[in-house]
Amino acid sequence: MKKVPAHKHYQVIVIGGGPAGMMAAGRAAESGAQVLLLEKNSRPGEKLLITGGGRSNITNNEKDNRKLLEKFKGKGKFLFSAFAQFSVTETLHFFHTHGMPTILEGEGRVFPKTEKSESVWECLRNYMKKHHVDVRTHSPVKKFNITNGTITGITLNDGNVITGDSYIIATGGMSRPETGSTGDGFKWLTTLGHTVHGADPALVPIRTKETWGHKLTGLAFNEAKVTTRQNNATQDVRIGKILFTHVGLSGPLILNMSKDIVELLKYGPVTLSVDLFPSMDNNALDKYIQSIFLKNQNKKLRNVLSDIVPNMLAQALPALLMLDAEKEINIVTRLERQSLIKFIKAIPLTPTGTLGVEKAVVVSGGVDLAEVDFRTMQSRIYSNLYIVGDVLDIDRPSGGYSLQLCWTTGWVAGMHAGSNSPTPRLSVPHSQE
Ligand SMILES: Cc1cc2nc3c(=O)[nH]c(=O)nc-3n(C[C@H](O)[C@H](O)[C@H](O)COP(=O)(O)OP(=O)(O)OC[C@H]3O[C@@H](n4cnc5c(N)ncnc54)[C@H](O)[C@@H]3O)c2cc1C
Repeated sequence: MKKVPAHKHYQVIVIGGGPAGMMAAGRAAESGAQVLLLEKNSRPGEKLLITGGGRSNITNNEKDNRKLLEKFKGKGKFLFSAFAQFSVTETLHFFHTHGMPTILEGEGRVFPKTEKSESVWECLRNYMKKHHVDVRTHSPVKKFNITNGTITGITLNDGNVITGDSYIIATGGMSRPETGSTGDGFKWLTTLGHTVHGADPALVPIRTKETWGHKLTGLAFNEAKVTTRQNNATQDVRIGKILFTHVGLSGPLILNMSKDIVELLKYGPVTLSVDLFPSMDNNALDKYIQSIFLKNQNKKLRNVLSDIVPNMLAQALPALLMLDAEKEINIVTRLERQSLIKFIKAIPLTPTGTLGVEKAVVVSGGVDLAEVDFRTMQSRIYSNLYIVGDVLDIDRPSGGYSLQLCWTTGWVAGMHAGSNSPTPRLSVPHSQE
């Protein structure tokens, strides 16, 4: 991307080229404003490119705003006015009409048809280009300049000052800092008098004590039931996809439970029990296993276990249950069968912590929502300041909800900042990538 000259006045300056910033910049320019997007990396959207395992789960296909916003827990009530302007329907329309068809997968997850995050990236890049957004990369913003209680400009790390009518903070949260999201926006917003709630990793893989599980790296179960317990009391029970990793557990279900696990760990030890056959009770599972054993009477246990569970786990089971792997099925005792059933219906695992902010999908915390006007995404402290995307203190589950929040808040902020600007659009040609 080309560099644009500094010392230029813009109607809208967007700081941070993540999904929220790119949408905000494109929409502000489309609304008629002259827009500058400042990104500290060599290109915008580094985190966007790794979303959804490189496939970008761009939204969740829930067209009813009331149902959709229930997913944002107590924070959903703040979001109605923004989602009334740009919700899932408008998001899908936006991508489809900007040349990016989508596909729908389980649990309402929507992906680009190409199954490549690059398609989303290109769509936003083209959107900004079409509406003449000046994109300036390698441009870390250092601070906001305030004169007489008004934001008058921003200073870049290289000392250059750029002025604007309105400013949109889209610097993201603090997860995966190597992508550029290092929490700069939180520091500025605190200095500007906003309340920023502490950042805890939210959707984050967890570490477990049991090292045998670490050897199952990559093994996934699409429908596992996970129960968390503390002080012998059940805290949470959920069913979904889990994934064993080299340090513990991940997968959508674990990511969604991780914030509560982090919270519980603050109060003492937590145990997890993983049921790999949630649709069968112990009796049904026993009958199922007996039917497999009946067909394999003369085979060795180690060869038959993989008919019951995936091979990687089957190899680990004899040692874990102190069973003789070489034993023929016809001499496996009822007690031994029961110990197998007990284990795979409630695999005990001990969470010890998370992979931290560095590996979190989302970090909870951010700007207090009461300090933002969601009709416009304007700060309630500075009328020419807008706040979007991960900078906001909104918890949400995995499933496309985070990016949807970026599209909605970015679009609303861009539209209002772009059309509210007092400075007439300059006629000078804008530099482009
Ligand atoms: C591994 C992973 C997978 C994910 N998968 C999904 C998914 O499939 N679906 C989903 O909905 N969500 C997903 N998310 C969450 C989603 O990526 C984030 O919610 C989203 O990227 C937030 O967008 P944002 O624009 O607010 O901020 P970011 O994407 O964090 O972008 C902020 C930008 O601001 C720039 N910046 C920061 N400070 C400065 C500064 N001082 N000056 C200039 N520029 C600056 C950064 O370099 C960065 O480019 C995933 C997250 C991770 C980590």
